[in-house]
Amino acid sequence: MLNIAMTIDGKDAAAPTRLTVSNPANCCVLATVPDAGQQELDAAIDAARRAFPQWSARTIADRQAIIVQISSIIRNNADELARSLSSEQGKPLSAAAFEVESAALWTLATISYTVEPTVIEDTAEHRVETHHVPLGVVGAISPWNFPVLLSIWKIIPALLTGNTMVLKPSPFTPLTVLRLGELLRSVLPAGVLNIITGGDHLGPMMTAHPGFDKISFTGSTATGRRVMESAAPTLKRLTLELGGNDPAIIFPDVDPQKVAEQLFWSAFTNSGQVCAATKRAYIHDDIYDDVRDAMAVLAKSVKMGEASDQTSVVGPVQNGPQYRRIQSLIADCIDQGYPIIQGAIPQDHIGYFLPITLVDNPPEQSRIVQEEQFGPILPLLRFSDEDDVIARANASDYGLAATVWTADETRAVRVANQIEAGSVWINEALALSPFAAFGGHKQSGVGTENGLAGLLEYTNRKTITIQRKPNFLVKKI
Ligand code: NAD
Repeated sequence: MLNIAMTIDGKDAAAPTRLTVSNPANCCVLATVPDAGQQELDAAIDAARRAFPQWSARTIADRQAIIVQISSIIRNNADELARSLSSEQGKPLSAAAFEVESAALWTLATISYTVEPTVIEDTAEHRVETHHVPLGVVGAISPWNFPVLLSIWKIIPALLTGNTMVLKPSPFTPLTVLRLGELLRSVLPAGVLNIITGGDHLGPMMTAHPGFDKISFTGSTATGRRVMESAAPTLKRLTLELGGNDPAIIFPDVDPQKVAEQLFWSAFTNSGQVCAATKRAYIHDDIYDDVRDAMAVLAKSVKMGEASDQTSVVGPVQNGPQYRRIQSLIADCIDQGYPIIQGAIPQDHIGYFLPITLVDNPPEQSRIVQEEQFGPILPLLRFSDEDDVIARANASDYGLAATVWTADETRAVRVANQIEAGSVWINEALALSPFAAFGGHKQSGVGTENGLAGLLEYTNRKTITIQRKPNFLVKKI
């Protein structure tokens, strides 16, 4: 069995105890990782603090050049990283390769931004400039659904703007990110990026630690609330990318067969474990039956299996707690008598496989409509009136993303403008871009990742004002 080390101060680091990491498709143990505690966390923060003065003093061009090398390292090791990712996360190898490639692309795209000072006034009397300066040491906490990409979303903007970092991947999926940390030691000065692993105690220890200037967190809304509370005593900066219950609205002027396929993958990519996946599908009455039936055919025909099976396109749910949560949602639908349509799961498997499940028009107040499922189950809901469907789409504490499907662009834009969400995609889904701000409205988050706005979240504004004609200067003779 592999015993993988953390990266602290550019070197291997261990902890007195270790955690096991398993493959969710067969529950076999893959490796053990350190279960870091206060001592290891303090050491990682100290290393990041020591590295900060030199790293932040480098020119942005210098840091950009290193980030280009990071992108090359990800690309050059893509095969190994994708294999590791698919075995710990459960996603098919092709999907893991896509995530790793996206991480390399995102890394490279981020360097197209620089954070130049803004000149507010430049007159004979005054020069006023606002600079964007790094915050210091950032604590990053990433989830298990896209461990590599969502860690890169934090690492690259933080480092580009001159911060140093201590990153903690999810204890369910730490292996590939730890390996990435090892690989990046060849281009990053010691202490600039430290990667630590640990169980449930480590996240709260990080968010409460006075050594961090910012916490960048991606995870559930429930944990996001705890992060905010624990960051309050030291007023840490926060970026919180949280859960969603994203509506899709499908108008009747679309081809039901074709839209069904798009809708299907907007909901079931990564076995539904995508923050911005479709989680409620509002389908117009005129085409409801056709869309439902076409999605049912897909649910029954897509191949679900282990990542090692090259023909499988959907994997298991990633971990035991999530598996049991989705099971309880399916059981609730059955208990309540809601009609369901299910696909198959692989035979003779002990992994966390759950069938793709469509719930046929459950009540709006049902658990499956009200809660974020984050797994392979989707409620299909009928509507007939535009204002009514907008009100139902917005009747949620979440506001991460939404999709609108129609041939009528005027209607699409009218609806998109009324949806309370950070991203609205029209006639496509999950169209994330490294250049477009992504973040939640309402309880789906605080702040933004990606784009210039995402980069600036890793900076403080600093305004420098020069009075050019003060009346007290002594003239030199
Ligand atoms: P989670 O909230 O259970 O855990 C996320 C991370 O926080 C893990 O690394 C965990 O160890 C750590 N953690 C747990 N308790 C903590 C605490 N009290 N303080 C600090 N850290 C703590 O989330 P998850 O189950 O890993 O991820 C699924 C959730 O993440 C879903 O709700 C999903 O929508 C959301 N998500 C959001 C985005 C986004 O960009 N908005 C992206 C991916 C996932």
